[in-house]
Formats: sequence, structure tokens, C-alpha cells
Amino acid sequence: MAAVPDQARFDYIVIGASSAGCVLANRLTQSGRHRVLLLEAGGHDHHIWIHIPLGYGKLFDNAKVNWLYKTEPEPELNNRQIIQPRGKVLGGSSSINGLLYVRGQHADYDHWRQLGNAGWGFADVLPYFRRAEDQERGADEFHGTGGPLAVSNVCEPHPLCEAFIEAAQQAGIPRNDDFNGATQEGAGYFQLTAKNGRRWSTAVGYLRQARRRHNLAIVSDALASRILFSGRRAVGVQYVAHGITRTAYADGEVLVSGGAFNSPQLLQLSGLGPAKILRDFGIDVVADMPGVGADLQDHLQIRMQYRCTEPITMNDVINHWRHRYAAGLRYIMSRKGLLTIGAGYAGAFFRTRPELATPDVQIHFLIFSADTAGAVLHAFPGFMVSVCQLRPDSRGFVRIKSNDPHVPPAIQPRYLSARSDCDTVIAAMKALRRIMDEPAMRRYIAQERAPGERCTGDADLLAFARETGTTVYHPTSTCRMGSDPAAVVDERLRVRGFERLRVIDASIMPTVVSGNTNAAAVMIGEKGADMILQDAAALAPLAMSA
Ligand SMILES: Cc1cc2nc3c(=O)[nH]c(=O)nc-3n(C[C@H](O)[C@H](O)[C@H](O)COP(=O)(O)OP(=O)(O)OC[C@H]3O[C@@H](n4cnc5c(N)ncnc54)[C@H](O)[C@@H]3O)c2cc1C
Repeated sequence: MAAVPDQARFDYIVIGASSAGCVLANRLTQSGRHRVLLLEAGGHDHHIWIHIPLGYGKLFDNAKVNWLYKTEPEPELNNRQIIQPRGKVLGGSSSINGLLYVRGQHADYDHWRQLGNAGWGFADVLPYFRRAEDQERGADEFHGTGGPLAVSNVCEPHPLCEAFIEAAQQAGIPRNDDFNGATQEGAGYFQLTAKNGRRWSTAVGYLRQARRRHNLAIVSDALASRILFSGRRAVGVQYVAHGITRTAYADGEVLVSGGAFNSPQLLQLSGLGPAKILRDFGIDVVADMPGVGADLQDHLQIRMQYRCTEPITMNDVINHWRHRYAAGLRYIMSRKGLLTIGAGYAGAFFRTRPELATPDVQIHFLIFSADTAGAVLHAFPGFMVSVCQLRPDSRGFVRIKSNDPHVPPAIQPRYLSARSDCDTVIAAMKALRRIMDEPAMRRYIAQERAPGERCTGDADLLAFARETGTTVYHPTSTCRMGSDPAAVVDERLRVRGFERLRVIDASIMPTVVSGNTNAAAVMIGEKGADMILQDAAALAPLAMSA
């Protein structure tokens, strides 16, 4: 990592080597014309389990690479505190996530544009998805090749996934071999951000290439604690590295890419946020912005567990040393097999009501079972299937609890606080049960372990969701893009009312996308980089003539 002297000057300072921040670090240094400082609170990404896809399960409680956040007690989830893992490492959450590559629906982005965000319709963002992508299946209208983000197929079919896909078809859900193609609806296999059986985080895809450039300085283990302003212009960043507080200055822009929890936290620590909360913690109010940290959205998943009739699940491999070693050996020899799978193997997108234009539910089909994420697998053959409502109406918040940047903020998604979300979750669980009851799947089910056959009525199903529901790790929208007074950034991702300050990460999504959020965060990084470079190019002649 670079030794950067105190008070050093750069053109751009990127805060957070996140899914989006690594894209910025790469694209902004590509021409060689701009000096960029990348600050990352976590360390390097050498941990072996980061790079083996299945190792994702080993990173849930690893404080070296994970912020290990928790929500406040969630009132509608029986006051449970829900885990909120977040990457704290080069690559951000793309280094610890479940690797599923799902962009969301075309309609998500068209909706962003309808909300007043010019330039964010699906036709506008598709070129950035394609530019980022190195699609194993080759290029077409929806996919690109040669980009920094490798996207690949699962290495081989699995009998349980085949049965699930067939059962979905028996239930009237079509087969879909590309959830990122013309339409999302259907059942099929997920694709992964992986290549040759290795994780393809943005640290691997974007930073490895860029870190050799003389104009990029990367400082890891460096927590940005405050953005510095001259009036309404961002001029630099104060950060803490190895216990020492330093300052870096930006002649161009300060770019906040700390993710959906840390970006609003840093803005609030810097005096941008709800005035009362800032004052309560002794922070000088630079701008009263109630929208900073508001509108938190996340996907809630409800996992149904099944005991399998045949010993063909991952439980049967991991729990027997001989099979486990064989799987390890196979991975070492060929980079294939169980160690290459991500957070879902197969999946489905469907509508709970026929009048809907697009799916409102996503299914993740997992070939193992455990009581909680990252926990020991059950000692019997088992698998799990989760339902996830794609467009929740519930809204929560992120708020500082201290003026100390090391103190985690209060995180409160307020899952299931909207009645419409409860209704969708109930309908989704019923629809999933119908799929599982189709002949193709039924032969593999010895027992529905949870919620269990006694759980039948709507009230029972909702009670199960409240008791067991947990995050799919997709928090967004806490620095929401828009043109209304509560929006934090405009459609060029500039913090409203400020100069030379942008937020570029998952926190700017006006609404959470109907899928997994990493691909969209990378796209936001790609589009954000383009906007910064366009603005710099537009300003350059003015600077010369001044
Ligand atoms: C366990 C898990 C599983 C997931 N599974 C999937 C999946 O399968 N598919 C999918 O598409 N998405 C998945 N996601 C979600 C997806 O990875 C995230 O939405 C995406 O990575 C968010 O990107 P981001 O750019 O907003 O920020 P992040 O990638 O979260 O990164 C923020 C970075 O900023 C750094 N940072 C924060 N504050 C500061 C500061 N003050 N100073 C310096 N550095 C700072 C952090 O340490 C971190 O490295 C998962 C996420 C998790 C946690």
C-alpha cells in the first residue's frame, strides 16, 4: 500500500474500495491524467476464503474482512436484531458476497428515470452493464465481453436444482436460462461473478489492473472520519490510519463510496444530515438534510427448510470427511465442484398476482441446510429454498449514534412495517409450497422441516416470517438519487447543494433493484466514472482560459 504523506494533494479522493469504489479507482486513473487516492477502512484481500466461492459462508463472522453490523431490534420481526454483514476489505462487499450476478429488471431502471432521474432508464444503463462485463457465454444485445467483471455459469447441473426448475415449470413458471436477458421471469440457474472457479470481486477485476499505475495511491486500514469543506465545496478528507489522523486534499472531487451504511454515516459525521441528530452528537451542521440516512431499503428473505429423501445434498459432502476431502481435491485439481458454488445455485422469479407487470418475488434454491447463515450444516440430507420480496414498501434509516467514526451507526430497515410487504411474503411462501408440491420436487422431500406442515394459515406463515426472516444483504437508498427535497444526490450523483462532492455506490439507488445488488453497484461505479470524466473534460478548457 502506498505511503501517502499528510496533507497530500490529489485530483480525486475515493472513499471506500467498494464494489463501486474500485471501478472509480480504475476508470479515473486509466488515462494517466488524474491522480487518485483510494482510502479503504479494511485491509487487503489475501484471505483464502475470499477467493473460493463457497468460502463466502466462512466470512460471515470474520471481523478482519467484515464490519459485522447488526440492526437495532426490529419491531416487526419480534424485536430480533438482524445481522448485517458488510465487506471491510479491498473490494468491499464484492469480496464477501454470495457472487450471484443478477442486475434487476429493465423496469427498475425505467422506474428510476420516471422518478425524474434523467439518464438512468434501462436503455441508458445497459451500455454500462455491458462495458463492465466479461460474459462467459459471449456478447449479445444484453451482454458484453472483455470487461473487468467476469461472469460465468455454475460449473455443472445438480439433480436437486434440475428438479426444482422442472417443478417450477410444472407450476407454470417458464424456464429461463438468462435472468439478465430480455426478461427476468422464470426458473433456472444463477450466474456468478467468478472465473475458473475463483471469485471475481471488483478488487480482482478492477483494482489488480489499476494498482500498478503511478497515478493511483491506495491506502488500506484508513477510515475516513470527516469530509472537509470550504463553504459548500468539498476540498478534502480527514482519515485515521494506524491510529494517526491525516488529511488529504482533492483539487477535483471527493467521491464517497462507503456503501449503504457507511456513506450516510460519513456524511452525517461531516455535518450533512438531519440537523437535530447532528446537534445531539455535537456535530456542527453544514446542511440540514433529513434525507441523508433515510429511505433504507433491504430485501428480507424467508427460508423454508426441507429434509431430502436422498443423500445428494451438500450436507452429505461437508459432514463426511472422505467426501469433503474429495471435493477439496477436485477443486484443487480442476477448479470444479461444490467449492465453486455461491449463495444460490438455481432460482426463480415470479409474480404473486397475475395483474403485476413483472416478478415481485425471487427464489434462491440452496443445496444445503443450516439453521442460520454461516452455521454448521445439518447432519442429515437437507436443502433450503428462500423467498424474497423484490420491491419492499417498508422504509428504514441509518443514523449515527456517536460523533466517533468508529462507533457503528443505528441501522433500522423496519422490515415488514408495510402491510403490502406482509401480504407479498405470505403469497410468496404459498406459491413456493405449490412448486415444492409438484411431482418433480415431491420425490426429494422427506419432510418440510420449517415452517412445517402444521403452519398453514396466513397468520401462521406471517408469524414464521417474523420469527425467522433475515436479510438477503441488499441495503440501498440511504443517499437516494432524485429531484425531490429529500433526495441526497442529483442524477449526476452530486450531493445536492454542494460542489465537488458525489456519492457513488448502492446508497444512491432511488429504489432497491429487483434482484441482487452487486451488479447494479458496479454499473453505478461505471456510470459515475463517466460523469466525473465528462465534467472534468468540460471544465478543462475553462481552466485553461482562466
Ligand atoms: C454477505 C453478503 C452477500 C451478498 N450476496 C450478494 C450476491 O450474491 N449478489 C449480489 O449481487 N449482491 C450481493 N450482496 C450485496 C452486494 O455485494 C452489495 O450490494 C454491493 O457490494 C454494495 O456495493 P457498494 O459499492 O455500495 O459498497 P460495499 O461494496 O459494501 O463497500 C463499501 C466499502 O467502503 C469501505 N468504507 C466504508 N466506510 C469507509 C470509511 N469511512 N473510510 C474508508 N473506507 C470505508 C468499506 O470498508 C467497504 O470496503 C451481498 C452482500 C453481502 C454482505
